[in-house]
Amino acid sequence: MTGSIEVVYRGIFQKHLGQRITRGIVLAARKEGKVGVSFGRYGDSPERNGIPAKSFAVVADTEDELQAHLARYEPKDNDVTVAVDDTLCKGVESWAWYGLQPIHKLTRRGGAVLVTSMQAPDDLLRDCHRKGAPWNLAVLRGIASFSGLWVFKDDHTDVRVLGAIARLAPHVVRIESVETAILEEWKDELKVCSARKGHDRVEVRSVGPEEGNAEQPYEFKLPRWQDMKEGLVIPAIPVRQEVEGWDGGYRPGRNPTFKKFTTRTMRPVVDFETCTKCTVCWLQCPDSCFDITPTGHYDANMEACCGCGVCEAVCPVTHCITMVNEQAFEDNGSQFAQHQNDAAAYKAWLTEKIQNSAITQRAHGFRHKGQYQEEAAQMAAEGAGDD
Ligand code: SF4
Ligand code: SF4
Repeated sequence: MTGSIEVVYRGIFQKHLGQRITRGIVLAARKEGKVGVSFGRYGDSPERNGIPAKSFAVVADTEDELQAHLARYEPKDNDVTVAVDDTLCKGVESWAWYGLQPIHKLTRRGGAVLVTSMQAPDDLLRDCHRKGAPWNLAVLRGIASFSGLWVFKDDHTDVRVLGAIARLAPHVVRIESVETAILEEWKDELKVCSARKGHDRVEVRSVGPEEGNAEQPYEFKLPRWQDMKEGLVIPAIPVRQEVEGWDGGYRPGRNPTFKKFTTRTMRPVVDFETCTKCTVCWLQCPDSCFDITPTGHYDANMEACCGCGVCEAVCPVTHCITMVNEQAFEDNGSQFAQHQNDAAAYKAWLTEKIQNSAITQRAHGFRHKGQYQEEAAQMAAEGAGDD
């Protein structure tokens, strides 16, 4: 019998976290006499900031079963898909495939998507696309761990996830094996304790085939070999394009197929009333994201924005651009159009977004013992969770 787990993580920030989880699964499975392999996918880009990437663990009872399972590009029927940042529930786009891939695309029918999040399962489900088959949404309460930049700073997310996997897929690894492997590998009783808590506390909600986000994920067709031209042809991108529905203004040239918005964990929110139209954000955005509006304001295009935060840093007007956690948004609509439609309602919307600290906070490793509990309690007090 074989079992497989995929971990979807954000390039650079979480690459060590993803590797530690899948490696931990294989170490634990070996305690049960199984064999296994942990690997990253060739086509992903774990070295690029925020780009969704994947790490896999495949375990089997015998070498032959393992080899048979590995004779393919990637496991397509995973028992558990782990998303170590809840904004990945909106779908992912990387180098390894084309268009937007729902988070559960490679989760088997009846399998589980395990998310580390302070959001309730029903809130997360609004982001997850419909699967057309039953599945389970499991939530491990916790702030997304962004503590793995270059040097891994331990916040126990790795072992908490391992414990939760043992609860969701005991036929892959049991919690006792996880505990033994953790103690042997990391020699830390506290991490063993965290794994057990992850196992005991994970919340599971069953999801019906037609539940979730009804949006059709963005896709495009690759040219077939008959369509390809002789030699290497790279079509040019138009320097400027009209923006549909606008009378005036334009969109600078940008890649029409690689959208990049799934790279984002935070997005800029622009206050058009305090904007002085200085052009600095438009000039400095590394991805040419700002559409030039008919009024001379600059509208950050949410399909193209990768959430780097440069515009917030360079804008000379205080609080004119504010980065807000991606979980606070449900679409990629134009903020400028929203403002034009109803300026007062936009102001109220903007104020609500930028004043809610529960949706601007990210974890960057713990500096003292008990910090995790303090942060979780603070988030819960602010209404972001209840654990
Ligand atoms: S965060 Fe700002 S600077 Fe960065 S890609 Fe988005 S719009 Fe451009
Ligand atoms: S940098 Fe700030 S003030 Fe200048 S155009 Fe952009 S949003 Fe407006």
